[in-house]
Amino acid sequence: MTMTISSMRIGHGYDIHRLQTGGRLMLGGVQVSDQISPIAYSDGDVVIHALVDAILGAMGWGDIGEHFSDTDPRWRGRSSSDFLIPTVQRLNQAAYTLVNCDVTIMAERPRLKDFKPAMKTALAKLLGISTDRINIKAGTNEGCDAVGQGQAIAAHAVVLCCPTGS
Ligand code: MG
Repeated sequence: MTMTISSMRIGHGYDIHRLQTGGRLMLGGVQVSDQISPIAYSDGDVVIHALVDAILGAMGWGDIGEHFSDTDPRWRGRSSSDFLIPTVQRLNQAAYTLVNCDVTIMAERPRLKDFKPAMKTALAKLLGISTDRINIKAGTNEGCDAVGQGQAIAAHAVVLCCPTGS
């Protein structure tokens, strides 16, 4: 397919999970804590969940709950990469490629700066794009609401997709 402005597709995803003491916290496919964990049906990786929703949104394919329901025992305790890999495969089968993605993580703890390179590497592998097409921003929520009080963790993701080969 020839790339035109109208063939480009943009999508946004958002996810939030409550946090509990103990267990491990996965973000962007990387373990960032062994002190806290999300309350979740899968491993609760908010970065990957936001990215799956962003890709589904770009392509007009609904949302993560429709594809990977949290009442379906198939997805219990699964790594979130098991949601992202088939979503990227479906994108590529539709003759679309991810151009870039921009992720914002809101977390009061842990500090995420040092984990960003590892997250980029892990996500590049899952998304099938180079690390220079992935941006990760991390901030606190300035003490506001449940995220700011360390009771929850959230992420936003924006992706741009275009026809493969354009
Ligand atoms: Mg989620």
